[in-house]
Amino acid sequence: MSSAQPAGTNSTRKYQLLIDGQWVDSQSGKTFTTPNPATGETLAEVAEGDKADIDNAVAAARRAFEGKWSRISARDRGRMLYKLSQLIEEHSTELAALETADNGKPIKESSYVDLPQVAENFEYFAGWATKIEGETIPVPGEMFNYTLREPVGVCGQIIPWNFPLLMAAWKLAPALAAGNTIVLKPAEQTPVTAMELGKLIQEAGFPEGVVNIVPGYGETAGAALAAHPGIDKVAFTGSTEVGKLIARAAADNLTKVSLELGGKAPNIVFADADIEQAVNGAMMGIFFNQGQVCCAGSRLFVQADVKDQFIDRLKEKSAKIVVGDPMDKATNMGPQVSQEQLNRVKSYADIARTEGATVVAGGECPTLTGAFQNGYFYQPTIFSDVKNQMRIAQEEIFGPVVSVISFENEDDLIKQANETIYGLSAGIWTSNITRAHRFAKAIKAGVIWINTYNMFNAASPFGGYKQSGYGREMGKHALEMYTNVKSVWVDLSGKPIGWFGK
Ligand code: NAP
Ligand code: MG
Repeated sequence: MSSAQPAGTNSTRKYQLLIDGQWVDSQSGKTFTTPNPATGETLAEVAEGDKADIDNAVAAARRAFEGKWSRISARDRGRMLYKLSQLIEEHSTELAALETADNGKPIKESSYVDLPQVAENFEYFAGWATKIEGETIPVPGEMFNYTLREPVGVCGQIIPWNFPLLMAAWKLAPALAAGNTIVLKPAEQTPVTAMELGKLIQEAGFPEGVVNIVPGYGETAGAALAAHPGIDKVAFTGSTEVGKLIARAAADNLTKVSLELGGKAPNIVFADADIEQAVNGAMMGIFFNQGQVCCAGSRLFVQADVKDQFIDRLKEKSAKIVVGDPMDKATNMGPQVSQEQLNRVKSYADIARTEGATVVAGGECPTLTGAFQNGYFYQPTIFSDVKNQMRIAQEEIFGPVVSVISFENEDDLIKQANETIYGLSAGIWTSNITRAHRFAKAIKAGVIWINTYNMFNAASPFGGYKQSGYGREMGKHALEMYTNVKSVWVDLSGKPIGWFGK
């Protein structure tokens, strides 16, 4: 990191692949560039890994898994993870600036949300390394039965661009705590901080080949990794569409799969809620990270009695959101991550209008000046008069666009809230405690927030129901995805086995 150029300069940064402890060019010699989405200027030139590089990385991860890494004690694994968390804290200012430069998220978010959580995840799983244990099972007869909890092996991890470093941490930390080795493919839009993390991983003392990082395109590097017969597990976060491709590719080798996919979360406001808090929570639910969040509260259900009052206040407060230079501490919303994502958001706004929804706020790109004219910015956007069957209420937009849907009563609501292919998260705003818990039970989703939204902790599991995926990240549940259970039987009687005669 000492050689790192300051973020925000015009000089293009350069990154190679990290394979077997070495920084190398791709076999093809190809590179790709990643822009700063706030300006469209090139931020970095990155080696473009594809199948040949994935093959090398998987082979290196296998050697490390069978060799050096298997002989390192759990305590030392934990110490390395802890060291890594400390190094991340030491470098958090520059990492946050790079995350903002590559992804476009406001510096306030990368500094106070992403980076602290990245460090927290490595620190939390550092503690787990020495606490992964088997069990003794009280089996009948003169037999001793125990279980061993062993690492799965070589893990392929494919991550998205919305929380580049945090998604790397969610994947790497439990896998390393459990003693696995890894080939990580960052998203093509945001490879920069993963490569910087690679430098810190080396500095923390992880042996060569334990973590290999191969940036490249999904269709080439990602697909080669998911289909690789040399990996034991593939972990993926991204779209439901690509999640299905991953599961199909992995099926040929019956590779274990965990998927954290899209969402279309209901964020539900009852008339008895603290309306001011609920408005704040609704904004937090949809405008955080420019709306590029899998658990975004993109379907905002508001009880009919308070709908008009609620929308007025939401509109008023949303108008104060500062959209612009993400490096400015006062900015609340930066650009979308790419031109492609901006186009997607725009096309959904058109769809919303055709479907008969009403634009309450936004619905356009803001007019910015200077260097930001070419950035991929979009206004905070509120649509009302949305019906749950409309495409904007059913398809993941992944942008700062919220659909307000009104409801009459609980029965009507619960049916609509669950009428989606997704089931990642849900929010409920009410002062009625029994209703809140009734809903927590009735909603088919992996995470429920009551009178709050977007809460995360390294100790608390996160993952989906239905087409939002399977497997849980974070908490002790994540370790289940990265370990195999082996059952061992021991005869204690010393007597000959008589079943087929002595
Ligand atoms: P995506 O294609 O699902 O990308 C996620 C990751 O998968 C990236 O590393 C991507 O590589 C890789 N990938 C793509 N195609 C692959 C394939 N055939 N085999 C293996 N890996 C592959 O997501 P996106 O295209 O960037 O965004 C599209 C939509 O996905 C968004 O609008 C949003 O709805 C959803 N999304 C959801 C999440 C989430 O957290 N659940 C995150 C991001 C996006 P490349 O980057 O090189 O394509
Ligand atoms: Mg993609």
